[in-house]
Amino acid sequence: MTDRADVEPTGDGSVGEPGSAHGTVSFAPDIPAEHYRFELHPGYIAAKSVEHELFGSGLANPYFRRIEGFAAGTATIGGRPLINYASYNYLGFCGDPRVSKAAVEAIERYGTSVSASRIASGNRQIHEELEAELAQLLGTDDAVTFVSGHATNVTVIGHLFGRKDLILHDALIHNSVMQGCLLSGAKRVSFPHNDWTALDRILTQHRRDFERVLIVIEGVYSMDGDMPDLPRFVELKQRHKAFLMIDEAHSLGVVGRTGRGLAEHFGVAPGDVDLWMGTLSKTLASCGGYIGGSREMIDYLRYTAPGFLFSVGMSPPDAASALAALRLMQQEPERVARLQARAEQFIELAKAAGLDTGHSRGTAVIPVVVGDSGLALFLSQALFERGIFALPIVHPAVPARNARVRFFLTTLHTEEQIAHTVAEVADVLRKQAAVA
Ligand code: PMP
Repeated sequence: MTDRADVEPTGDGSVGEPGSAHGTVSFAPDIPAEHYRFELHPGYIAAKSVEHELFGSGLANPYFRRIEGFAAGTATIGGRPLINYASYNYLGFCGDPRVSKAAVEAIERYGTSVSASRIASGNRQIHEELEAELAQLLGTDDAVTFVSGHATNVTVIGHLFGRKDLILHDALIHNSVMQGCLLSGAKRVSFPHNDWTALDRILTQHRRDFERVLIVIEGVYSMDGDMPDLPRFVELKQRHKAFLMIDEAHSLGVVGRTGRGLAEHFGVAPGDVDLWMGTLSKTLASCGGYIGGSREMIDYLRYTAPGFLFSVGMSPPDAASALAALRLMQQEPERVARLQARAEQFIELAKAAGLDTGHSRGTAVIPVVVGDSGLALFLSQALFERGIFALPIVHPAVPARNARVRFFLTTLHTEEQIAHTVAEVADVLRKQAAVA
């Protein structure tokens, strides 16, 4: 280090020194450049190499396309309307004029932000109504909302569990749960996908080594569209005295006769699950997350969860749109029934066409597994050219043999769109197989 006053920082860890031969003298030359320059960060370099591997051969990058207007059963890209399978707008409430109107009215009444954490500056009536009506829908004592679904999992798991605890989660659990586990400092173990017998074995062997144990599963898995056998998990959690948390990001509004999610689908009492987590960004056409559960737990989260306490309250338009969508979902259960019928139609047609839809069953998430990253990208691009928007999931997000194009159904898709889509998928794959 130098303490001379006549050297000037240049921003790259060196200093300009008027008298030196090259105009610079380097500080701490033993520190490798990848430790202070992001363009040399090994993670960045690895990501660039994946990008090159995937798109070097001329296939278009399908990610971050610009959608014009709102995305529902169709989406407009480059002025061209495409049948859209890339949004989680399951019940079509994003873009519904009634939901938009509720958001506009909330802005007119409260402005665009609540400008501070609710504990610091107070609730708005729409926060209270949203949480009360969410709790009513879920059948829980109470509910609390957060500004992001991802942040809900991170802060709640990170806050409620600690170093003496164990968190057991499904192998396909969402990243937000993993991040929460990391933050908590608890011991984290994954069990094979949906395998409650393996979970039982782990609990039998290790339950007593820990104070609290949390089991985390999803209502509908976002990669595969399958569901856990909820009654089995409830039985396990009761027998082993553990907590059970369910992430209903993709099951609220999608499963259960009236869209109330997994409890309704399996006829399980809501009180048999400790933490009902969900997002407001999918069925509820907004942005944010929630936790429903016992009065004591929700109270504790409201007063202590860092992601609630130290973060702004939900914005008025977000709270109002989620509340409007929540009410409409209950007033119009035919939307849920139609979504379920469309999903069933897609699966049946796909199976009849010989497509591999993995484990998906009766939910709005349907993968077409093609078993090769290049083929998944090719299929997505060919569909795009034929007026269908569905995105590929490739290695390293899934093992290459599980590479797929994923279809998210909405209640707004028509039977004709679905029949057309499945026929196009089958046609692309058939033609590609013929030239391969
Ligand atoms: N959980 C699951 C299972 C998800 O799929 C997602 C996002 N797709 C989240 C949590 C995070 O929700 P949000 O996008 O609303 O932050």
